[in-house]
This record gives sequence, structure tokens and C-alpha cells, in this order.
Amino acid sequence: MPVTRFAPSPSGRLHLGHAFSAAMAADAGDGTFRLRIDDLDPARSRPEYVDGIMEDLDWLGLSPDGEVMVESERLDRYAAALEELKDRGLVYPCFCTRADIAEAMLNAPHGDPGHHYPGTCRRLAPDPARLEAEPHSWRLDVGRALEEIGGLPGWTERDGIRFRSTRDHVGDAILSRKDAPSSYHLACVLDDADQGVDMVVRGADLRPSTPIQRVLQQLLCLPEPTYFHHKLVTHEDGKRLAKRDKAPTLEAMRADGVDGPALVESLTAQSLPLGFAFHEPTWEA
Ligand code: GLU
Repeated sequence: MPVTRFAPSPSGRLHLGHAFSAAMAADAGDGTFRLRIDDLDPARSRPEYVDGIMEDLDWLGLSPDGEVMVESERLDRYAAALEELKDRGLVYPCFCTRADIAEAMLNAPHGDPGHHYPGTCRRLAPDPARLEAEPHSWRLDVGRALEEIGGLPGWTERDGIRFRSTRDHVGDAILSRKDAPSSYHLACVLDDADQGVDMVVRGADLRPSTPIQRVLQQLLCLPEPTYFHHKLVTHEDGKRLAKRDKAPTLEAMRADGVDGPALVESLTAQSLPLGFAFHEPTWEA
């Protein structure tokens, strides 16, 4: 029986798309359903939204099994993994600002994958004084990483289909920043492994994260989960449900008298309330 998880970010109230994701995770194989709070972004995370997540799940009748994992309580775990990667020469400090990166991309030779970091800081000579003095992030040297693990790992979706990544799908991802001691990618792979998650259920909008997360899993000798990237819930006109454009929150649906467990039952049966539609993003392999 798979162990699955729901991993919301407490940066707003949950909406129908979250309910669908939680329903998919809870339903996948009827196994163990875990909860993780992705609160690594101090600027956007708020404790009242964590309470909101607990209330909403309770109303839906989706109670998580075991302890709730809270990312902000696991910074030592992430820091230790980053140190290991530093010792192995697989990460490098990056001093670029967003503006530097945008500028370097404009001047990048053809053939450089445009959406990835152009590598400006990759070959800088070690400079402890600068490291001490200047804010910096740490990036994965994905070229070296791939040499070490012997090529690009793929992944398997729950229907058994194997997906392959291409070099275009992976760049020198940021693993930590001064203001964010771990990136989503690094935290996510460690958390999934530590919660014993063997099926990662999440929206297909997060599928572009999977190739780099598979690289990190192999580098850190973490087990390979199966993936279920589910379709997304949108407004009927195809517009995405975003916290900021007043997507109907679960709190509002509850106030309107909607029955939580009945909603989960219909979502599990792939049926949406009026006014919403499913959207299946395509994937360029
Ligand atoms: N915290 C992410 C989100 O709310 C989900 C991360 C994941 O499922 O891997 O979009």
C-alpha cells in the first residue's frame, strides 16, 4: 500500500484545487496519507494558514496519519545534506542577483537552455573572504552531478509509464539562499524520504520539478518514489485557481453549507462542482 502525502504551503487558504490534490493523495491506493507543511518561505508563510489547513482537512474528513512534518523545523536536516554536497564538490556559491542572471541570459550563446541559470558563478575560484562578506546562494552543479550518477534519471508514473528527462529539464538549481536556508527541491526530496513517502501525488504543474528532484534523490541515495502528477482544477473558462484571484476557498464552501466528505467523494470520482473544469498540462519529453 503506497504511502502518500499532501504538502501545502501555508501562504493562503486552501481552495478546490487543494481539495482535489488531497483527495487524490488520500485515495491513491488507500495507503497511509501524510501531511507536510511547506513553510520555508518566511515572507509568505503564516501560522494562521497552518491552522486553516488543519481545519479544512478536518472538514473534508481527510485526517493525516502520523505526525505532521513541518519544514521550518527541519533546517538542520537540510543544512547537513547541503554540507555533504559541498564536501563532494557538487555545489557552488552563486553571487548573482536576479538582474545579473537576466542580463547573462540575454547574452548567452545559442544552445544554452534559456530557462536555466547560465552558469556565471560555476567556475569562480574559491574565495572564502567573499563568501564571508557577500550574500550568496548555493547551486547544484548539475553537470558534475550527472557525471557522478551516470546520466539523467527518469521516473515512473503510477500507471507504470516511464518518463525520461532531457538535459533541458535540469539546470543548476538553487539549493539554499541566504534568506531561505533550503530550497523547495532539496527539502522536498529529504522530506519525502523521511516520511517514507513512496508515491508522490501532486499537481501536473509541479511535474517540471521532478527531473531535478530525481537527480537529488540519486545523489543523496534516497529511495525512488512513484509519481502521480494529477490534472489541475481550473475555472470553467480555463483560468487557473490562484489564491490571489479569489479562488473559492474551502472555508467559504464550508460556510455555504457544502458537505466536506461528500465533496471528497465526488472529487475522488473525478466530478467537479459546477463552474470548474479539469486541465491536463502537456509535457514536452
Ligand atoms: N508546497 C507545494 C505547493 O503547495 C507542493 C509541493 C509538492 O507537492 O511537492 O504547491
